[in-house]
Amino acid sequence: MLFTDLGLSAELLRAVSEQGYSQPTPIQSQAIPVVLKGGDVLAGAQTGTGKTAGFTLPLLQRLSAQKPAGGQRPVRALVLTPTRELAAQVGESVETYGKYLPMRSAVIFGGVKINPQIAMLRRGVDILVATPGRLLDHVNQKTLDLSQVEILVLDEADRMLDMGFIHDIRKVLALLPKGRQNLLFSATFSNEIKRLADGLLDSPSLIEVARRNTTAESVDQVVHFVDKGRKRELLSFLIGSGNWQQVLVFTRTKHGANRLAEQLGNDGLTAAAIHGNKSQGARTRALADFKRGAVRVLVATDIAARGLDIDQLPHVVNFELPNVPEDYVHRIGRTGRAGNEGEAVSLVCVDEHKLLRDIERLLKSEVPKVDVEGYKPDPSIKAEPIQNGRQNRGGGGRSRAGGNAGGNRGGNRGSARSQGAGNNGGPSRRRSGGARGAQAVSGSRG
Ligand code: AMP
Repeated sequence: MLFTDLGLSAELLRAVSEQGYSQPTPIQSQAIPVVLKGGDVLAGAQTGTGKTAGFTLPLLQRLSAQKPAGGQRPVRALVLTPTRELAAQVGESVETYGKYLPMRSAVIFGGVKINPQIAMLRRGVDILVATPGRLLDHVNQKTLDLSQVEILVLDEADRMLDMGFIHDIRKVLALLPKGRQNLLFSATFSNEIKRLADGLLDSPSLIEVARRNTTAESVDQVVHFVDKGRKRELLSFLIGSGNWQQVLVFTRTKHGANRLAEQLGNDGLTAAAIHGNKSQGARTRALADFKRGAVRVLVATDIAARGLDIDQLPHVVNFELPNVPEDYVHRIGRTGRAGNEGEAVSLVCVDEHKLLRDIERLLKSEVPKVDVEGYKPDPSIKAEPIQNGRQNRGGGGRSRAGGNAGGNRGGNRGSARSQGAGNNGGPSRRRSGGARGAQAVSGSRG
């Protein structure tokens, strides 16, 4: 199948072909015709499947086919996303695919000044991409009218619910006109998502590209069992020996992300952290540095990494397994995007065996286990509970993660080797330029 078979207009086909795409991905070939006909959609598609173009292209076509009366420019399509990053990326897609159409779009999210957004809305916007919190701020300030919305997209709806946005979403729904088209995208289907879909969608077409709760097929997964205190050392070894040039590493906590980025810096690897407590500018910079190769390792928390679209990201490492099994699927969805090969490595210590079992139960398959010579776990080390202490002071949002401070706890009781050997920077505690990131994201409630 080709894009030209999908009934898209010449303007859209031109923009698509400029991106170098001639074949639609499975979600695109299934969703585009349905959305063009005006139907509701419930799509099970994780990030990396091409879902964004799957709703953006037909949405643009529908809006451009009909102009609103009276020369007005009300918001006619609303895309809600859980995070600022995803909002920005969807906004970019709307711009990219809509470049030959006379459509105006805007992206609004929290953490930045509201006045430029107000000015933008006043000039008139056809397609609005927003995180729920800031969207409601505009509604409350009466700087935004949603009464003319024709198409609503909930992107990564599961994550919006995870982040506690359900009340905000319900408030937004109450502001929209009844007769509209609804598209709901979610990587996973909890009962809560099903309830939301039931209330929202009218005889939706069900589109599921990867099987529910399965991981992208082009991703090779592997587990290395290792003592907690030696995880950082093993990570540096894997990056160095494999000559990995672009690695996204997940930790459970913001503090853990900062600390690991700093330690990797000491090991001579350029690293930055992105998580909850930094400015929009800082996190945009970290991501840009990572994308252009100036930073080799990006250490992120789950919410921070949500929606990051990095083309052909070859390596994802779970430095710590997530507390929520679904997050594993999201994490490794960062690699092997749109058919590219990727590798997802999980470093699992004795404390995390239960988390691994939960993940494998969700995946309905076992992740292959491979020993790394020289890093086999010390069988005398007993499991300790993973502490879910709060360390989320003043940051945005609700950290579901909590958790201990990453790999450092193990450093205290792990083998002596973790304290120095293999650490090029030595065991010194000096702050290194390597931790120049600490770029933020996470829990940012729009
Ligand atoms: P998404 O799942 O929407 O985040 O898209 C994942 C990645 O796939 C993005 O980098 C897109 O630019 C890319 N992409 C989207 N559609 C296609 C396509 N038809 N062929 C190849 N890559 C695509």
